[in-house]
Amino acid sequence: MKKGVPIQGALIANQNGSQMSYNNKCEKCGDTSRSAHTVSVPGPRQKYTNNFKCHKCGNQQRVEIKGE
Ligand SMILES: [Zn+2]
Repeated sequence: MKKGVPIQGALIANQNGSQMSYNNKCEKCGDTSRSAHTVSVPGPRQKYTNNFKCHKCGNQQRVEIKGE
């Protein structure tokens, strides 16, 4: 079964088969968003990437979640 493993900028909230949900996490100030994003779990050696601006400290944070 594939699994999403956060590299940076994300906390995995839930995983259900091929779907996972994560919360944005700022690596600079540690703030974690309350709303979750639901996306497909990346396959092995693939990566889900995104980015967001932290509403608390303004850090431009990259989101990387790898598949295992
Ligand atoms: Zn921040």
